[in-house]
Amino acid sequence: MGRLAYVNGRYVPHGQASVHIEDRGYQFSDGVYEVVPVVDGVLVDEEPHLDRLGYSLGELKIAWPVRRPVLKLILRELMAKNNLTRGIIYFQVTRGVAPRDHKFPASVKSALVITTKRLNPPSAAMINDGVAVSTQPDIRWTRRDIKSISLLPNILAKQAAVEAKAFEAWLVEADGTVTEGSSTNAWIVKGGEVITYPKTNDILGGITRLSLLDLVKSTGIKLVERSFTLDEARTADEAFLTSSSSFVVPVTRIDGKPVGTGKPGPITQRLREIYVENVDRQIRAAK
Ligand code: PMP
Repeated sequence: MGRLAYVNGRYVPHGQASVHIEDRGYQFSDGVYEVVPVVDGVLVDEEPHLDRLGYSLGELKIAWPVRRPVLKLILRELMAKNNLTRGIIYFQVTRGVAPRDHKFPASVKSALVITTKRLNPPSAAMINDGVAVSTQPDIRWTRRDIKSISLLPNILAKQAAVEAKAFEAWLVEADGTVTEGSSTNAWIVKGGEVITYPKTNDILGGITRLSLLDLVKSTGIKLVERSFTLDEARTADEAFLTSSSSFVVPVTRIDGKPVGTGKPGPITQRLREIYVENVDRQIRAAK
């Protein structure tokens, strides 16, 4: 049997899964989403992802489509049906279906769509050589803390990066501040200090970022949550990015110029190791 998707209470063949044309997600991007990594059949950092979903829903006054424990059951059911052991599970909640009108509908039921995707871990080349990033202007709104499905600026930035032969776009404010990547958080290492943008409305509070911050505390490596400029990034000793689908990936070129030695740095490699060890611990605990 082929891959299934979950759409508003039903498991349907992925290729035929569809939503109503007046789903407010389709017409207004009026919705939020989550991506949870799956390793060895285990949902990594599931609770913080569900916490963030609750936060995004709350900020937009969208109701949970089902109660949290029920959502957890559906995620497992879909993973089992699709035999997903390594990849990601995507879930999206929109305000629901209603005649097109900007204001919130008086009565509406949130819509829930869930899909799974097999995905290999980042390749050995990405980890051993690092990836290139291309800088792009950050043209997003001021509520980047909400994991909204409205991703046009992110898509445009990623496409521009790909056209510049880079893996990711790093988004830069008019004053030269690097906020984050188009779908990843951005980090630099300078003088032994690990630096990443503070958790504010200016960035999406990545769950990988959150876990890594926690893990770094037990290493003795110095950590600072502050903004950094593109100039600082260009002259950093090391740089890396984090996300649910890639974990910790070294960044070795910014706009075609090498960062530090042009090779993944020792602190980045150490942080990747401790992140992967943490994932392994979660897998062991779940079995
Ligand atoms: N920033 C942005 C803009 C993102 O879209 C993502 C991934 N959804 C991240 C950061 C990384 O977040 P996470 O670690 O939760 O995948």
